[in-house]
Amino acid sequence: MDCDKCGREAVMNAAYSGLHLCEEHFVASVDKRVRRRIREDDLVPSDATPENPQTWVVGLSGGKDSVVLTDILYRTFEKDPRIELVALTIHEGIEGYRDQSVDACEELTEELGIRHELVTYEEEFDVQMDDVVEKDPEGMAACAYCGVFRRDLLSKYAEKFDADKLLTGHNLDDEAETALMNFLEGDVSQIAKHFDASLGNFEERGEQDDFVPRAKPLRDVPEKEVALYAHLEDLPAHITECPHASEAYRGEIQELLYQLEENHPGTRHSIMAGYEELASLAASEFGAREEGDTDLGECEQCGASTTRDVCRKCSLLESIHAV
Ligand code: SF4
Repeated sequence: MDCDKCGREAVMNAAYSGLHLCEEHFVASVDKRVRRRIREDDLVPSDATPENPQTWVVGLSGGKDSVVLTDILYRTFEKDPRIELVALTIHEGIEGYRDQSVDACEELTEELGIRHELVTYEEEFDVQMDDVVEKDPEGMAACAYCGVFRRDLLSKYAEKFDADKLLTGHNLDDEAETALMNFLEGDVSQIAKHFDASLGNFEERGEQDDFVPRAKPLRDVPEKEVALYAHLEDLPAHITECPHASEAYRGEIQELLYQLEENHPGTRHSIMAGYEELASLAASEFGAREEGDTDLGECEQCGASTTRDVCRKCSLLESIHAV
């Protein structure tokens, strides 16, 4: 198959758009989609200047998504002194898995000359995910603990580094899966939260005083294309799956989406287009309704924002350390 743009040999065929692209035009099309998303989400505010630069903390796990995002952001803002990038890697304490991906993060950030910070569950919480899985005091899946700890550290360090934005490498498949899960669980407040946390542009999402706002500039790019990009650009991505990966329900949704996309190309894009619009409506409705109800206070133990006396992370740590 030939490239639709230049006639050279195509490396990808996107059923959802009907496009065949060669290596050069495929790479350019991914770059273009990420840059368009940065523009459409208003990620660079008009008051950012070289004298008053923005700090963007990028969650860099060493997997293909965060590696591709970091690489594209670096090249997009390489000559733009309004944006300073800081890569943040979180080591969960998973033997034979995270050490290699940390190596990938170090290789990439050294090559690009980006500041790289590494924080560990062990130093922060005195736990390792391998032990958490063994003890499992709450009878939950590994990812249920791990997600709470990771979100806590991303927020904590984004604040510590005075970040203006926290960027993560969620791709189109990740976002369409989350959208579908929220629909199927019938949880409209969760849909509203998803929008407030990371979808839509910054004007739509409004002021967010309590935490560093998040953005997902890779969310228009399908997972397979992210993987192909990492391969073609020879990026040091660590591909192995975490041995504790345990989100069974997400796995089912993945399978369902795969089938739908095979039979009806463009399904992921249309899910996200409709979902963002609905999520925006849900956010304005729930935001207004919950404003008076939300009793956001500080965790008695760590001071993090929470609606309880002790936040979820501290209560999980308490039960892990009690075993
Ligand atoms: Fe943590 Fe689950 Fe991700 Fe493994 S797959 S790193 S346990 S969230």
